[in-house]
Amino acid sequence: MPAQILDGKAIAAQIEQEIKAELEELKSKYGVTPGLAVVLVGENPASEVYVRNKGKKCSDLGINSIVRRLPESASEQEIIDAVQQLNEDTSVHGIIVQLPLPKHVDPEVVISHIDPSKDVDGFHPVNVGWMFIGRNRFVPCTPAGIIEILDRSKIEIEGKRAVVIGRSNIVGKPLSILLLQRNATVTVCHSRTVDLPSITRQADILIAAVGRARFVTADMVKEGAVVIDVGINRVDDKIVGDVDFDAVKEVASAITPVPGGVGPLTVIMLMRNTVQATKMRLQRSQ
Ligand code: NDP
Repeated sequence: MPAQILDGKAIAAQIEQEIKAELEELKSKYGVTPGLAVVLVGENPASEVYVRNKGKKCSDLGINSIVRRLPESASEQEIIDAVQQLNEDTSVHGIIVQLPLPKHVDPEVVISHIDPSKDVDGFHPVNVGWMFIGRNRFVPCTPAGIIEILDRSKIEIEGKRAVVIGRSNIVGKPLSILLLQRNATVTVCHSRTVDLPSITRQADILIAAVGRARFVTADMVKEGAVVIDVGINRVDDKIVGDVDFDAVKEVASAITPVPGGVGPLTVIMLMRNTVQATKMRLQRSQ
């Protein structure tokens, strides 16, 4: 039987309604409208698209959005200065630095200058540390969105064998921590993993965050596994995932499509983190 298609768009729409209700309450009770600032350096076309999508979602929801643009030639210090101005701006509740940054800039250094209470991407070492010890503050958006897909699709995580392919700081690593928090038995694979298919075939929940088109083939998937495809790869003007969708859907019990799977969740979790940052500020000021 072909797999159930996990509809990320529908799940994101559901969360969007919940966020709208929270935003109305923030406005009516406290007269506050959250503000999200994006620092965008250079003119990377993919980054332009992502920033536009985030801005559109903000305007759909009634969140103020600001884009602080800097030229490709901006120095690390100039970018840090822009971040620090946003840290001090009380109309800004959340700050993200759009990645990738130009090669001459160390993203970790820049991110470490974001006020952790405005770090809605959840990349600041302080927030990463809180998550590591199981006291989540801001959780990175893509991993948080994947957990929402599993939960809202009633897919049990506890006790399951989860295999994550990819160990980046924005997807693979934080996701492995979240799955561990939820009592999965987690294996993280990467480019030096030996005999990857023998490991992926053990997964009840298999997550592909590799960045290689149709990398996960049907023979790498256990019958009945849940497959989450994080990949966004451009092939002949088409966006495809890291999973060979057509073949794998015949083996898996459930699978996310690309597009329309994990992607919509990433954007909506950013909005949710921005609302959370706003509420945390209100609590601190009471
Ligand atoms: P990175 O390039 O930072 O990480 C890729 C990971 O895959 C690395 O850990 C790498 O291993 C591993 N890898 C590469 N080749 C192999 C291989 N042959 N076998 C096993 N592992 C391998 O990518 P990201 O984590 O940032 O993103 C992954 C994908 O998800 C991309 O397609 C990206 O576009 C997409 N993405 C989608 C989002 C969404 O909202 N849907 C959000 C963020 C990302 P090693 O560490 O050893 O190099």
